[in-house]
Amino acid sequence: MMNKIKYQNTLDEIYTEVITLFGQGKVANYIPALANVEPNQFSMSITLIDGQQFNVGSHESSFSIQSISKVFSYTLALRSSNKSLDKKVWREPSGNPFNSLVQLEYEGGIPRNPFINAGAIVICDSLISTSSSQENALDKMLKLVKQCSNDPSITLNQSVAKSEMQSGFRNIALANLMKSFDNINNDVTDVLQNYFSQCAIEMNVQQLSRSFLFLANQGIDPVSKEKIISSSQAKKINSLMLTCGHYDASGDFAYRVGLPGKSGVGGGIVAVIPGKMAIAVYSPELNENGNSLIGTQALELFTTKTGVSIF
Ligand code: GLU
Repeated sequence: MMNKIKYQNTLDEIYTEVITLFGQGKVANYIPALANVEPNQFSMSITLIDGQQFNVGSHESSFSIQSISKVFSYTLALRSSNKSLDKKVWREPSGNPFNSLVQLEYEGGIPRNPFINAGAIVICDSLISTSSSQENALDKMLKLVKQCSNDPSITLNQSVAKSEMQSGFRNIALANLMKSFDNINNDVTDVLQNYFSQCAIEMNVQQLSRSFLFLANQGIDPVSKEKIISSSQAKKINSLMLTCGHYDASGDFAYRVGLPGKSGVGGGIVAVIPGKMAIAVYSPELNENGNSLIGTQALELFTTKTGVSIF
């Protein structure tokens, strides 16, 4: 493995290069509570398999993890080994925007994968079905996020969740469309409330890179030694992140970066190098596919400069 001191130098170099790109993307404005985020921000964090961290930029500033939460909810769903899940959501790239309704209509209400909005809403529905009154689906999610990041202070921003509940018209349409195809079992409003709440979890890049370490270590947190999922399940999640983690730009991300990763419209991206590290990056200006423009560039620079990728 590369000399550890070089990681900090590489992050510093990336920082200098990417901040010249401020102003080229657009902050997500379809969620009113996120529209006023300061656009010119950048932070990046690496957590190595031994727990050592390297950071650059505003690495202690939290942001809305949005769709990155779909990885945690899918982790929980796999853990509950609900066999019917395979029939409720597929595992193919969508080739469509994250919130598209078109494909869902002609494919009978079965979402292409758990990382587009429709798929994540189905996963939320399934988590509600398998939860108890003592511990609801959202509590389980937060517990998992806190466990994986080894940080009990992580919480969600209620005003972001509320803002999306009031303005999430496409997600409301997706959920209702799937309900009409019998692919949602619970009350649509309950499922959406859960979905918007999980998206509103806030983390900084340090917490985020730390929290994905279990996926770099075959499902076991390499620092706490706790088993989060089986190695076979970790393989499945990483494969899905590689093929479906960036919506209709998943192929482009894989081509440029060469790592499994998941983005969110809040501007975060997290990527995994199995056996080595997890990397989180944040910059809120998005490209036309709804992925962080500078975040993608920073990850491409990282794998290019270090020569480390999964290939
Ligand atoms: N809460 C967002 C939505 O449902 C998540 C999308 C994303 O982060 O890509 O629209």
